Amino acid sequence: MPIYEFECEACGARFEELVAANAAAACPACGSERTRRVLSAVSPPGRQPRGAGVRSDESRRRERESGRQERIGEAQKRRAAGEKP
Ligand SMILES: [Zn+2]
Repeated sequence: MPIYEFECEACGARFEELVAANAAAACPACGSERTRRVLSAVSPPGRQPRGAGVRSDESRRRERESGRQERIGEAQKRRAAGEKP
């Protein structure tokens, strides 16, 4: 069973709960059942659903992309400042 992160709509507390898909969890802080599942599911190692790996690959790729954009931006700034690379 995956661990889901929940957010309490009554008090705003966030907590993780081991529940079946689509099941709700009561807030441990105030006991309210008005909780909603936060989309960033946390899974125990080795038990990730198939889609999670795809998503993390995608986010790693985006991180690389944005890192490259930053480096390009800094090179352009250095050139604009008259420095040689
Ligand atoms: Zn609560």
